[in-house]
Amino acid sequence: MKINKGFKAWNSPYLFQEMEDIIASFSQEARREIISLGIGDPDLPTPAGIRSAMQTEHRNCYHGYPSVQGRQDLREAIAAYYRSRFNVKLSPDEILIGLGAKTDLFDLCTVFANPGDYAALLDPAYPVYCDSLSYRGQNIHFLPGTDANGYMPELDVSKMANGDLALIYMCYPNNPTGAMATPDYLQTMIGHAKNLGAMVVFDIAYADFTPGNLDSRAFSIFSLPGSEATGIEIGSFSKPFSMTGDRISWVVIRNPEAREYWKRYRSNRDSGASNYDQAGALAALTRDDVKAQVRENMDIYGKRVKTLMDGLTALGWPCSGLDNTPYAWIRSPIPDSREVAGRILKEARVMVTPGVGFGPGGEGYIRATIFQPENRLAEAVERIGAMDFRV
Ligand code: PLP
Repeated sequence: MKINKGFKAWNSPYLFQEMEDIIASFSQEARREIISLGIGDPDLPTPAGIRSAMQTEHRNCYHGYPSVQGRQDLREAIAAYYRSRFNVKLSPDEILIGLGAKTDLFDLCTVFANPGDYAALLDPAYPVYCDSLSYRGQNIHFLPGTDANGYMPELDVSKMANGDLALIYMCYPNNPTGAMATPDYLQTMIGHAKNLGAMVVFDIAYADFTPGNLDSRAFSIFSLPGSEATGIEIGSFSKPFSMTGDRISWVVIRNPEAREYWKRYRSNRDSGASNYDQAGALAALTRDDVKAQVRENMDIYGKRVKTLMDGLTALGWPCSGLDNTPYAWIRSPIPDSREVAGRILKEARVMVTPGVGFGPGGEGYIRATIFQPENRLAEAVERIGAMDFRV
């Protein structure tokens, strides 16, 4: 048997296996006590207006292959969303409905890079970018994000021979750090992409996740000059609308040649999102009752943010990120994030994610989500507070 060498390049699956091994060693009772602040999966229900739109469509629609590009009405609704949300005028033809942002992000480097090419990648970052590049025999040029650079690391173009760099992956609001970039920073990356013949992938999966209904500073790459030729933007219905299981997203590509290649690839890879998932997505963007429910959910998330922040601050654990995302990015009390996450799981029965799972730059941090009710979050912090981290 031959195994793709890319599996050796990255340690995140083995890292999560370690957490699972710890859980496997627990008694049934201990397992029931676990409070998971691990996976970023919204726990509040999908708004009723989305569910009823999907149910109606499921009952009535043709269950054959949908259009790969996606329904016209949904693409028009996304174009209208871009106009009102980002002041960006798109044609519905520039939008492709996807089967979840993860799937699209995983595959972009098949179309827009070759084996041996380089991709510049934020470190730490959502692990899918890194894995997808490794499996395709592509090289990674890490851009280390730190408190000092505000998680907006520079790309040292002197290290990039012209033609070597195929992709620059950017994600703001960011998972796992919760950081938000300035438009100027993205503008610089667009300039580099143009000069080096690369494309910029901009992942805005968290643009509308606004705990406490705070004004979001999220923006579209297409609000920036020069992005038409080099920008690829990925949006997702998963987090703001609690639709993670529905697998629906969008990709905007304005460059006609790039779009044609992506379409051709998509028509071989999959057959489009189901008509009923698309009906749910349409309801998410257009129904007032859904908008009201999302606002209510964000208010609930806002209260949880306060509970988690207050708790961690009282423990003396510095954290950031919760203004823009569901994630607290917490400086861990001991440098080895795997060790600290393992101990928190064993001793406090609380699951958090070790920062190193998001890349070498995540070492020294842990990530905790707000996807638990307020009382459970408070209890998680209390349990962690009862631990002794003195070395
Ligand atoms: N992009 C980022 C940064 C994410 O954190 C996630 C999921 O956690 C995704 C994309 C995937 O979103 P989807 O559920 O649409 O696949």
